[in-house]
Amino acid sequence: MTQCVRCGKQNAEVMTEASDKSWILYSCPDCRYAWRTTEVVENRTREQFPKAFQWTDETMKSFTDFPRITTRKNKQ
Ligand SMILES: [Zn+2]
Repeated sequence: MTQCVRCGKQNAEVMTEASDKSWILYSCPDCRYAWRTTEVVENRTREQFPKAFQWTDETMKSFTDFPRITTRKNKQ
């Protein structure tokens, strides 16, 4: 596992990667942040990620649920 850039947990997983391994897309199941290894350093490393946007356990406890995806009304 990889450390999440935003929340700092060690649960980030590889979502997909380029066939030539030129980039990897990571996603965090805890805060849902995602980043690609080719993004600017501020977006892909915890140390460089802006402190104002970093989350902690305390921050995340104060959030309400993520919005749910509604069901499709016009089924075919
Ligand atoms: Zn996270």
